[in-house]
Amino acid sequence: MKGGAPTSVTVLGATGSIGVSTLDVIARNTDRFRVHALTAHSNVDLLFRQCLEFRPDRAVVGSEGLAELLSRRLSAAGLHTDVRGGTEELRDVAAASGSDVVVAGIVGAAGLAPTLAAVGCGKRVLLANKEALVMAGALFMEAVRRHGAEVLPLDSEHNAIFQCLPGGYRRDDPGASGVRRVLLTASGGPFREVDPAELETVTPEQACAHPNWVMGRKISVDSATMMNKGLELAEACWLFGLAPEQVEVIVHPQSVVHSLVEYRDGSVLAQMGNPDMRIPIAHALAYPQRVDSGGDPLDLLRVARLDFEAPDDRRFPCLKLARDALDAGGDACATLNAANEEAVAAFLDGRIGFMDIGRVLARVMEQLPAVAVTSLDDVMAADQRGRVRTRALVAEFEAGRRA
Ligand code: NAD
Ligand code: MG
Repeated sequence: MKGGAPTSVTVLGATGSIGVSTLDVIARNTDRFRVHALTAHSNVDLLFRQCLEFRPDRAVVGSEGLAELLSRRLSAAGLHTDVRGGTEELRDVAAASGSDVVVAGIVGAAGLAPTLAAVGCGKRVLLANKEALVMAGALFMEAVRRHGAEVLPLDSEHNAIFQCLPGGYRRDDPGASGVRRVLLTASGGPFREVDPAELETVTPEQACAHPNWVMGRKISVDSATMMNKGLELAEACWLFGLAPEQVEVIVHPQSVVHSLVEYRDGSVLAQMGNPDMRIPIAHALAYPQRVDSGGDPLDLLRVARLDFEAPDDRRFPCLKLARDALDAGGDACATLNAANEEAVAAFLDGRIGFMDIGRVLARVMEQLPAVAVTSLDDVMAADQRGRVRTRALVAEFEAGRRA
């Protein structure tokens, strides 16, 4: 906070699960935070209501047509918000000098360019959009270094790890802090105990019914396949400068221990709390201070027990695919991320079955071996290739299901 003036925040993806939770924390702390800009892809109704409540200077939506619609409604309500539409405007607002903090809450590859734009201006970036790091980790972290940006993780596991690392931790030398490895916890999703044979026929609604968290549909399916943990494995390696073998995934069904850091002396530090995204969001918004998040205090007596188990690789093949992609390097993670977005969308549309997601991804990764990347254009080319290949495979699977 500068001289007592409120910190000015831009929320990319304001209408999503992360965006709504962020605005909830801001509403509880209006003396500390003000909203500079809000963005949404298409949910103009919710964005309109958010603009009425938070009175941002600017708003950005997915198209010029939607921008006109929103602008008219806001004018009629007596607000003079500067409303724009389109992907260039999204990048522009992420980089605008009117905000100190940018919350990267867009889902998927669409978040990469605006998040990088905020990094390029040396802002404090609160990162929920893990796909940006998965796709372009090396370029992303190099841009953070070059522009003096600060990335604070919102993903609950990475926020937990961040909280368990010492001040002055250097991602270019984790050993200097005595860090041996991190333990990334996973809830195991809704299908942790479902008979594997039944997984062939589960519906999108069942896959999105997460036992502990209410989230957007894409990340909910990722949690059910455990691809989410695969993406988070890559996210952890990039954020904290760790080798993939220094990150172990353990299933913890209660989602109370959000992750752990193990030190060379055998000490293991964990961060705990109720599964409520407002807690890591409040932590990152106020860092290094603490503010109210609205989250309930943790009642360990009610939780009563904390269980830990190894992930089941046969049930969750996506986790291994992500580890393989991370080991392969180059554009492999960008390819996998793009293929996953396409395959999840196809599953949500009822075009392929739940277990087909992993099968499609395995085929894509086999057919598109890793290529080195040196620029963002290379990453976007891998993203495109991954999507085209996946759509073709989805069509084959779909035809196979009908036959
Ligand atoms: P969501 O689907 O609820 O919301 C996505 C937001 O992104 C919406 O505001 C939408 O308007 C915007 N958006 C979607 N497509 C866009 C496009 N093409 N261009 C511009 N904006 C677009 O998703 P979510 O659950 O809030 O997740 C957002 C990100 O945060 C994801 O990367 C997810 O992995 C990560 N994350 C979410 C949670 C959670 O609890 N929801 C936890 C950890 C990490
Ligand atoms: Mg997470």
